Formats: sequence, C-alpha cells, structure tokens
Amino acid sequence: MNQDLLSELAAIVSPSQVLTGEDAAGYAIDWRKLFPGKPLCVVRPGSTEEVAAVVRACVKHGAGIVPQSGNTGLAGGAVPDSSGAQVVLSLSRMNRIRAIDPVGMTLCAEAGVILQTAKEAAAEKGRFLPISLAAEGSAMLGGVIATNAGGINVLRYGMTRALVLGLEVVLPNGEVLDLQRSLRKDNAGYDLKQLFIGAEGTLGIVTAATLRLVPQQRNTLTALMAVESPQAALALLARAQTELGDNISAFELISGISLGLVEQHFGLKSPLQGGNWFVLMEAASTLPGLRDVAEEMLGAALEAGEAVDGVIAESGAQAASLWALREHITEAEGRAGKGAKHDISVPLIEIPAFLAAAEEALAPTPGLILNVFGHLGDGNLHYNVVMPKTADSEAINRLVHDVVARFGGSISAEHGIGQYRVGELARLRAPNELALAQALKGLIDPEGIMNPGKVLARRGGP
Ligand SMILES: Cc1cc2nc3c(=O)[nH]c(=O)nc-3n(C[C@H](O)[C@H](O)[C@H](O)COP(=O)(O)OP(=O)(O)OC[C@H]3O[C@@H](n4cnc5c(N)ncnc54)[C@H](O)[C@@H]3O)c2cc1C
Repeated sequence: MNQDLLSELAAIVSPSQVLTGEDAAGYAIDWRKLFPGKPLCVVRPGSTEEVAAVVRACVKHGAGIVPQSGNTGLAGGAVPDSSGAQVVLSLSRMNRIRAIDPVGMTLCAEAGVILQTAKEAAAEKGRFLPISLAAEGSAMLGGVIATNAGGINVLRYGMTRALVLGLEVVLPNGEVLDLQRSLRKDNAGYDLKQLFIGAEGTLGIVTAATLRLVPQQRNTLTALMAVESPQAALALLARAQTELGDNISAFELISGISLGLVEQHFGLKSPLQGGNWFVLMEAASTLPGLRDVAEEMLGAALEAGEAVDGVIAESGAQAASLWALREHITEAEGRAGKGAKHDISVPLIEIPAFLAAAEEALAPTPGLILNVFGHLGDGNLHYNVVMPKTADSEAINRLVHDVVARFGGSISAEHGIGQYRVGELARLRAPNELALAQALKGLIDPEGIMNPGKVLARRGGP
C-alpha cells in the first residue's frame, strides 16, 4: 500500500476526507454492479486548489486517478480497476452553485452539484437547464459533462456539449486550466473546452462549468401514443416536426416488452395495454395555444393510422406518471437479470431496417428478451438484451455492433465507452482515428495517470 501517498492526501484534504476499506466500498463499484474495483483510497477534495494538489501528489507517486461524480454512469468509467493502486477522486464535496444569470441565461456551478439541484436552482429564476435523464437525482454536473450526456431533450437543445459555455479543468500535471468564459460567441482560437467534454475523465478533471439555460416553458403537452411499428413512429415524428417545429422537446420510442418489464418489476401500469410499440412525446412552449395545435396534430395522426391509440396527460401528475413508465425501464431491466446494453445510434431513416436486421442477427441465440427503447427523435436506441446467465454477452455485443456498423451508426450514442466498450471501440474505429486519439491523450496526459484503461486501451502508465 502506498502509505506515503495516503499521508500526503490526508494532509491536503484532511484525514476524514480520505476513505479506505469498507468506507470506500460504495465508490468501488458501478451503478450496474458489473465492474467491481479496489481503490487505494477515495479522496474527496473540497475546492479546485485541493483537486490540483491531489493530482500533483498522485503524479509524484505514480498513482492512476479515477474521477467520480454521481457514479450513475452505465459504462464502468467511474470506478477503479482491481489493482488496489488507483485513487478515486470524488467531486461530491464540490457542490456549490457559484452564480445564476437569468438575463444572460447562464448557470455557473461546481462539478459535484447534482443535476436536479442545478435544474431546481435555475427554475427558481424562471430558467430551465435542458438536460433531463432518469438519473438526474444522483448524476452530477462533472459526470454529465465528462460523458457529454444526452437524455430526453437532445432533440430540441442538443447534447450537453451544446450547453457548455465555459469550463474549469485540472490538468493531469496539476495545473488549473481556466476556460470559464460565459460567452455565446467566442472564435478566438481552438475551442479547448470541447476536448474535455465527453472525454470521460481521461484528459483532466472538470471542477466547474458555466452552462447555458433556456426560458422555462410554461405550456407543456405530454402524450403516450400506441403505434403499429417503428416505421409508423417515424411517420408520427415527421408529422409532429411539421406541425410543432422545435416545440417538440422529447420523442421517445418504447417497446411493449419494456413496458411489460416496468409493470412486472415496479407494478407501474401503462394506460395503453397491448401493442408492440409506443411513443412518449412532449411538446413545450412559452406561448399559449400549444395544446390545441398538438391535440389537432395527434388527432390527424390517429386518422392517418400513424398512431392507433393515445392518451394525453390532463395534469402535471398524469404527465409525471407517463414519464415514470419511461424512467423505470433501465432499473426494471436491471432487475430482470443479466443484460447486454447497446447504446446505439443510426441515421433516423434506417431505424426500422436496423431493428429488423439486429433481430435477425440475434434470432439463432435462444432465450433472449429484447428490451428496446430510447430517444427515437435523435436516432438513439437502447437496444438492450436480457439473456440467460449462460449466454455469452460479448458475442451478443459483437453481433449487435456489427449490424450498427453496417448501418453507419455509433456504438455509443450517449453513455460513453468507459471500460465496457473499450474493446469494441478498438475493433470498430478506423486505425487512424484511434491513433490520433492516442496521440492527443499522450500529449495532454504523458504519464497516463488520468482514468487509465477507460475509452482507449492502456498504453503503459499506472
Ligand atoms: C437510470 C439511469 C438512466 C440514465 N439515463 C441516461 C440518459 O438518458 N442519457 C445519458 O446520457 N445518460 C444516462 N444515464 C447515464 C448517466 O446517468 C450519465 O452518463 C451521467 O451523465 C453520469 O453522471 P455521473 O455524475 O453519475 O458520472 P459518473 O458515473 O460519476 O462518471 C461518469 C464518467 O465521467 C467521469 N467523470 C466524472 N466526474 C468527472 C469530472 N468531474 N471530471 C472528469 N471526469 C469525470 C468518470 O471518470 C466516468 O468516466 C443513465 C443512468 C441511469 C442509472
């Protein structure tokens, strides 16, 4: 055990903020409980200066650093390996909202602020932070930025990357890089902050950020529609885009199997029973009149056969209960048994053909349950497979990803690579793209101490 490093870390953050043994256990395993690790310790700095000092101590002792925020990531990126030598750097104590500017529509906060807390603080000023995901009660801004999180509002507002105006980062040499500008327009040189967004902690530690806010939408319509096929869901999307434009803030596809899992494991019942496919959509506007237009649009869709049944929420509580069905799918799947997650995207128009081809590729493997749901409006599906304990999940990953590649898609639309998909990224990415990524990593983190073995295969280092 690296006793000298432990003593130095305790001197930086105080002994009570260096956790070892049982106290560190909750930080050592990921949300899905797939990647148990063993850290040297968990260190919880309370300021940017302390993060920088921790990094310098780890460099001096050659210890790998694993940044961790809410630990809700689905790719095993925030947990250490089993060597007992890596330091988990938890951002959870860096939880101050530094400023909210309702006129400039920005929020500046530290990396350990829980996403929901940031959203509530923005809402108090009549503003909306448009990053919405089922884990928002635990995920923290640092992790959201480091994974370039998506969620249900990407269709209208873009990925997290599109919402980050400024960033404060501690580099792998312990220097603080201050990119905390809150400008909407800034073309002065390379946009360096983009390097750290979505890098999953492999290039540096995000300690604070300035995020773009939008006006709080006063009028919202939430509807659950039954559709006969993914093709029909795309026709409904096209109609909604024509009639509602960018007032559509979410357009989710949910399979009947997914709703069945939610009912089985959480007792939550859909108001629409039977059927193979459903769309959960939301439209929102600051202006009145949205509801009439949306209701007319959905009526026309029913007449045209693009939807076969539907329910429109009449109150906030009803809207919340429709969203609860969607938000419990991931946890219901976890309770259903062993699973292989595929967080894929393909060009929208290819979704029906992709679904048919993936089902065909998996047909020879017995006992699989296809739990398919996701952000249809973004071409992003969670093509998840619940399987018997004896099934070879890696073989299933490869089968699905090969189909994704055939359709020109991505093997990670929003959850990231972490350690879960390192092998698949290396298998499917062009060699020159991987080589450039490795060269960048080598330039910024020459000792290889930042989140070793995540995103890219390890090349030396701790
Ligand atoms: C029920 C459920 C639903 C989800 N739904 C969605 C969804 O719709 N869309 C979506 O995109 N994701 C979703 N996720 C995945 C996850 O919530 C997001 O990836 C989230 O952004 C992770 O935030 P976190 O704070 O938990 O990060 P963590 O899990 O702590 O970390 C994630 C990665 O970021 C790195 N990291 C963490 N903090 C920092 C930092 N300060 N600096 C540098 N690197 C850092 C870690 O090392 C790790 O590689 C879901 C997860 C669950 C459990």
